[in-house]
Amino acid sequence: MKRILFLTFALLFLTCQGQDVKTDYPQLTDNDPTTYYIGKAGKNKMTFQVSYNSPVLSYKIYSSGEKPAHDPANWTLKGSNDGKKWTVVDERKNQKFCSRFQEILCIVQQPATYKQYIFELSTANKKENLIIAGILLSDKNLLAGWENFKYPEVNFESLDPETAGSKIYCETLVQNPDEYVKYHTQKVAEILYFSTEDPIVDVQHIDYTLKNYDGISAKGGNSPNINNVYSTRHIENSANESLHKLDFETRGVLYHELTHGYQYAPKGIGNYGNNKTFWACTEGIADAVRAEAGLFDMSTRRPGGNWMNGYRTTGFFIQWLTTKDPDAIRKFHRTVKDLEVWSFDGAIKEVFGPEAGIEGMWNEYQEFLKKK
Ligand SMILES: [Zn+2]
Repeated sequence: MKRILFLTFALLFLTCQGQDVKTDYPQLTDNDPTTYYIGKAGKNKMTFQVSYNSPVLSYKIYSSGEKPAHDPANWTLKGSNDGKKWTVVDERKNQKFCSRFQEILCIVQQPATYKQYIFELSTANKKENLIIAGILLSDKNLLAGWENFKYPEVNFESLDPETAGSKIYCETLVQNPDEYVKYHTQKVAEILYFSTEDPIVDVQHIDYTLKNYDGISAKGGNSPNINNVYSTRHIENSANESLHKLDFETRGVLYHELTHGYQYAPKGIGNYGNNKTFWACTEGIADAVRAEAGLFDMSTRRPGGNWMNGYRTTGFFIQWLTTKDPDAIRKFHRTVKDLEVWSFDGAIKEVFGPEAGIEGMWNEYQEFLKKK
């Protein structure tokens, strides 16, 4: 099942990396965070050949599921055209990953066109051997349009620190809980909006709480001040499968709940509690964002249901619209702000033109699911 989950990640990455980068370390470029490059203590050198004739403008390094002491903390990226003369294009020191299976995105400080690149990486404590889950080089600036994203203030608290779920969250999965939530706020905004030029819903403060209760997660409050509670029992159950399963589930839930902080509310049709369209739109968009982030097992999609069913049924449909237009989620979400009286049919017409409609689009989606 995990293979299928990572295909979604793979698709996201392929658009950036494709066959453009060659390396002797397939574990770093296979888009599978559970396969690692296991290096040595001290300096590790890794070479990457790029086929594009333009500079590497940004790169991502992914931490593993092993102990943080094995993470890279210091690294240098050098470029060369002849394999002899190497020029430093980027250098980072004292880096800390905020969680396991986490990326650090770096914008190359001195980009220039090179045929090959070499990474020199070492851990913070030079006695620990290096372990990395992935490296992604890109000829695009992967932060473009998001340099000025305004992070909310995050206040993390575990109300039940003695529970097994709280312990694995705080002591194993997440090293910096505030940074972890902040990272995901930006990722959610990147799926809902085109750039920070858009009128992004202002989220100023998030209380993020772990609590021992029978459930999964819930969001409360209204932007600019929201709160989120995440069940330590659910954490414990997910962790029983694997740390990676816990990471996948935790991020998935976070994408959904943070979407509720950043999404527009439909107008002219009542509210979440008294109007089914309002509810289906709200929960559908939250699950569409989670799906777009690659944090659902998409093999569970089945024909049937209705766009008014909310959650995954609606969310998978909205996410599927990106096969027709890569910006479909952003455009669909924009209709929630723009339409004076929001409806699914109105939204589909706004995004795909007056000839389109919700019934036709849903039927097309059903045909896609039947052939899958
Ligand atoms: Zn929800």
